[in-house]
Amino acid sequence: MLSLNDLKMHFKSRHHIVKAVDGVSFDIAEGETLGLVGESGCGKSTLGRCILRLYEPTAGKIEFEGRDITHLKSRQLNPIRRRMQIIFQDPYASLNPRMSIDNIIKEALQIHGLFPNKKEREERVAELISLVGLRPEVLSRYPHEFSGGQRQRIGIARVLAIEPRFIVCDEPVSALDVSIQAQIVNLLQDLQEKLKLTYLFIAHDLMIVKHISTRIAVMYLGNLAEIGPSNQIYEDPKHPYTQALLSAVPVPDPGAKKQRIKLTGELPSPLNPPAGCKFHTRCPYVMPHCKTIVPPLIQLGKDRKVACHLYP
Ligand code: SF4
Repeated sequence: MLSLNDLKMHFKSRHHIVKAVDGVSFDIAEGETLGLVGESGCGKSTLGRCILRLYEPTAGKIEFEGRDITHLKSRQLNPIRRRMQIIFQDPYASLNPRMSIDNIIKEALQIHGLFPNKKEREERVAELISLVGLRPEVLSRYPHEFSGGQRQRIGIARVLAIEPRFIVCDEPVSALDVSIQAQIVNLLQDLQEKLKLTYLFIAHDLMIVKHISTRIAVMYLGNLAEIGPSNQIYEDPKHPYTQALLSAVPVPDPGAKKQRIKLTGELPSPLNPPAGCKFHTRCPYVMPHCKTIVPPLIQLGKDRKVACHLYP
């Protein structure tokens, strides 16, 4: 469904170039979920927005459903935008506070010329709101009357209104209470099965994406550190950064003999990233050549890739 080839997104200011995304390649197959994980500032949200062409990439190629969309102009992008959508971290910021929920969802239908018949439009809105687990009575109410989790459900209903095939879920549960996070992840998983959706699920926490992801990509300062099938990444992480991210997660069995790597220090500034392997300033296995030579992303087994001089 989606294919990225050496995608770059560099932001230029007067004195600096920030290489937010610096050569990322991966594919997402129809119906799968790729979990994209990394700390704040690693470029994952920029990558998500680039894929949706909310930014014009600096270099590389984006193919969606077999078509090169990297440099399409906005008029050519409009029909494609209906098929690729984004769910934001903060649904409140994206819901117009002066509009009722009913009108918020209807507006999405009208913008895309869907359900022009009034009665059918109303039926569709009621169908969408129950699809996200809310009762039709909520439609006359306004965004401020809802909890964070309910607002995220409304945001999801509005995105689904235009029948996308691919959705970038950009930290959709990070702003929610822990008790609500699983409910929204489960809802997204149910919707994926029902509607045959494909997701790029962005999160800073590996545990949030564990159950929903088919594969996981770990990103560090604009590059992929590692990518592979979800179960393999959790059971046998190869990159020291992935190992450190997983070590931060509480293990249910305290007797389990897992090697724990502590992630020390802050993520270096993307304005001035370290030379060689960008993780070398925090890596417990750093070797002299890590400081000068960039490790390429190499194939490791059938489905896995890792960028680290410890391999092969
Ligand atoms: Fe650590 Fe070197 Fe591997 Fe980078 S390349 S993760 S510094 S061992």
